[in-house]
Amino acid sequence: MRAIIFGAPGAGKGTYSTRLKAKLGVEVIAMGDIFRAQVKENSELGKKVKSYVEKGALVPDEIVVEVLKQHLARIPQGAGVILDGFPRTLEQAKTLEAIFELDVILLLDVPDWIIIERLSSRRICKNCSTVYNIRFLKPKVEGICDKCGGELYQRSDDSQDVIKNRLKIYQDQTSPLLIYYKDKNVPIITSKTTAVDTPPEPLVKQMLEELKKLKLA
Ligand code: ADP
Ligand code: ZN
Repeated sequence: MRAIIFGAPGAGKGTYSTRLKAKLGVEVIAMGDIFRAQVKENSELGKKVKSYVEKGALVPDEIVVEVLKQHLARIPQGAGVILDGFPRTLEQAKTLEAIFELDVILLLDVPDWIIIERLSSRRICKNCSTVYNIRFLKPKVEGICDKCGGELYQRSDDSQDVIKNRLKIYQDQTSPLLIYYKDKNVPIITSKTTAVDTPPEPLVKQMLEELKKLKLA
């Protein structure tokens, strides 16, 4: 399965892809996780992308595309892949077409008000990037990752004003990509969230069933 997981910031792309990875053994390339790790390491790449990531602005295409290519090249032949956070612009989608054969879009449809509620209470594991929410998806022990015991932190771009910026970029530049993929007849599996405390498991299960129907799981 070669998929793009698609949805607004806070729609749950990281949450779904980690679960799908565990169930299907696919590789996940999460652009945001990659950039945050580089910023933390203060690498050359990290220095270049830091200001963009912290403001919730898009990292320039040349950089993102290069990073994506490097990560795609490391994936074993024939392995399933989920791209999380790429493409985010029409330019990126066009670039992707030449280097990635796409089977399906996994679309997370979540209303704005739920996204805002979620992002402001989101926490991430420093170690393994698992996503929690101190109100809606709590770890068993406060501040500690269930999976690896790592410390949880709040992303610097999960603050009110940066959230607004990210949502606007999504509306203006990323959401039009859906029309682009519809026009190309790429199958789209939609998972709809209607309540702020909907747990991911039943939705992931539905997604797996849809993937089976398409013979991709
Ligand atoms: P979100 O929760 O907003 O979907 P991500 O963790 O996927 O966040 O990405 C965090 C940040 O990393 C973005 O706000 C942006 O600065 C940068 N980024 C990630 N993917 C891309 C991309 N495809 N193009 C440009 N910038 C990106
Ligand atoms: Zn962890």
